[in-house]
Amino acid sequence: MGSAFDAVRGFYEEAAERLGLELSLREALATPAREIAVQLRVPTDHGGFRVFRGWRVQYNNARGPFKGGIRFHQEVSVDEIRTFAALMTWKTALMNIPFGGAKGGVRVDPKILSEAELERLSRAYMRAIADAIGPQVDIPAPDVNTTPQIMGWMADEYSRKFGPNPAVITGKPLVLGGSLGRDAATGRGSAICLERLVKARGWSREETPVAIEGYGNAGSWLAIILEELGYPIVAVSDSRGAVFSADGLPARDVLAHKRETGSVIDFPGADTLPCEHIFSLDCAVLVLAALEESVDEGNADRVKAQVILETANYPVTPEADRTLAERGVTVVPDILASGGGVAVSYLEWVQDLQREQWAEDRVNDRLTELMGAATDQVMTRAESEALTFREAAYVIGVGRVAEAEVARGFR
Ligand code: GLU
Repeated sequence: MGSAFDAVRGFYEEAAERLGLELSLREALATPAREIAVQLRVPTDHGGFRVFRGWRVQYNNARGPFKGGIRFHQEVSVDEIRTFAALMTWKTALMNIPFGGAKGGVRVDPKILSEAELERLSRAYMRAIADAIGPQVDIPAPDVNTTPQIMGWMADEYSRKFGPNPAVITGKPLVLGGSLGRDAATGRGSAICLERLVKARGWSREETPVAIEGYGNAGSWLAIILEELGYPIVAVSDSRGAVFSADGLPARDVLAHKRETGSVIDFPGADTLPCEHIFSLDCAVLVLAALEESVDEGNADRVKAQVILETANYPVTPEADRTLAERGVTVVPDILASGGGVAVSYLEWVQDLQREQWAEDRVNDRLTELMGAATDQVMTRAESEALTFREAAYVIGVGRVAEAEVARGFR
């Protein structure tokens, strides 16, 4: 597998070309501002300690403090974190929130750790990066396998060094200054985005069957919200397999089944299928809410959906993206469709700075405004300049970052 960063940089380069960016600025936006690599020593429950590698990549902060989640996964590499830090930069710009982009990660399979070991790992990571972050500098958040509880431990660890300041990290438990609606925000944001598109196409919700790859936080919330709106959720999958029901799956019951058994597979009343069948099912919308590079050259020509919604980060490779465009499949890109999480992180940060706690409706209304505006801008730009949604989203996102850089004097 090639470098994910090089692949995603291609999307950026195309936008830089379209925008006619000066060469020096183009170069400045093609690489990260800073990369921090850390060694984490974590005492085990049985004596001794284990060593893990962690990173925080701060990509660009022309529009505001660096911002982005932290993932715990056995496949994490600096190339991957760099990729996501770049995506966060274009995502926060497209969502029009006053942040730059960053990402962090630890190479670990969190499933092999006890709760106490996970806490020690989370605290060790925060101690290692604490000097490089801060409420006006770089604000981490949850991502794959990281939870509000982990954000709580990290907030506490930061406060031991610098005093309590809830705005240093988002996605926290409510009692520590977290925001109502943050947990569901990535899924809700994707739903708002899809709603705009479905309305623009004149489709009816009831006749828009949806299949969802990935049933973690984002995928399961999206399923619950779309089902409430009236969309049939015909299939969902996780790393162990997929479940299908032509009449629609009850999203909350599937989640309860996954919590009980560890997987969506064997959900009563549904057909269990191999994982990869999710990509080729008969449906109108295929949601990619798992990990990167799910749709590649090997399966892009099997996609039957008319729309792919990228709720995960970088789920479609550039080769697959071209194949899908040629086949007339509309891809709603990650920097748009996954922007709801960081949008509500922004609202959490604002509440923390003001020492306020907003009602959930207020949070969701602001999310709807932010996501609605970004989606409309992408659709309008795509139409007026005959671009794909990804091309339009990048032109807007990269354009805003470039504009901020120029206003700072980098011309
Ligand atoms: N990890 C999420 C993302 O990739 C949220 C980041 C944040 O809230 O800062 O967009």
